[in-house]
Amino acid sequence: MPELPEVESLRRILARTAVGRTIVHARIGAKSLRRRVPIDFSASIAGRRITKLSRRAKYLIVEFDGDDVLLVHLGMSGSLTHRRADFRVGEFDARHDHLEFSLDDDSRLVYNDPRRFGMVRLIARATLASTAELKGLGPEPLSREFNAAYLASKARGRQVAIKNLLMDQRIVAGIGNIYAAEILFRAGVRPTRRAGRVTRAEIEKIAASTPLILRAAIGRAGTTFRSYRDSRGEPGRFAERLRVYGREGKPCYTCSTPIRNVVVGGRASFYCPKCQR
Ligand SMILES: [Zn+2]
Repeated sequence: MPELPEVESLRRILARTAVGRTIVHARIGAKSLRRRVPIDFSASIAGRRITKLSRRAKYLIVEFDGDDVLLVHLGMSGSLTHRRADFRVGEFDARHDHLEFSLDDDSRLVYNDPRRFGMVRLIARATLASTAELKGLGPEPLSREFNAAYLASKARGRQVAIKNLLMDQRIVAGIGNIYAAEILFRAGVRPTRRAGRVTRAEIEKIAASTPLILRAAIGRAGTTFRSYRDSRGEPGRFAERLRVYGREGKPCYTCSTPIRNVVVGGRASFYCPKCQR
């Protein structure tokens, strides 16, 4: 599932190529996503110019001139690709292409999602912050609001595993299973530790590791898993930098101890039993 680095990478690419373009025509696929795209969608979006691409947590926000914005969540397997006019491979495929915007330079912005857990929603800009999807989200992990003091205040007295605390979108927005594992490895803290028992010094390490891991992943366009591809169709290059995620039984790069995998909160959780306490 795409996490913050994948969505942020996508935002940066689209910001370079799609901003300033006007939507000439919108085409909707036959099958519905998690939330059905309304019938009048095409009419309400034609003629709009894309003015900005922004992001909140794992949501991409396509801003138009006028009062509406498009809220996009890639779900498990969604991708939003900007296909140039000369890119003739991958014509509209009604099975998996759910949405296609034809732009005024003959390029196309296509939302494809084989597993259909994604979401595309046109909403009024004024109600964006209070919409069900974004309301109640914690601070962005790359913002100043997210720091050791904040994390310590949220961890205090909590029985929940520290990894689950990091993945709780109400505590901090945008971190999922891959990056929670990598952050905790860098901080030297086991994913199973109860949040309330993690020391202040360790909380400081987690808070400091979070932006380092996320920025490194953004710099390499995220991690490739299943069908995730960035907007140019390139796989992310962070996979080769993963220290623990997906490496069960393989030697730790730091100490050569085999990486372990335990289930925490129903999710596979990778860690080094020697480097992480
Ligand atoms: Zn190790």
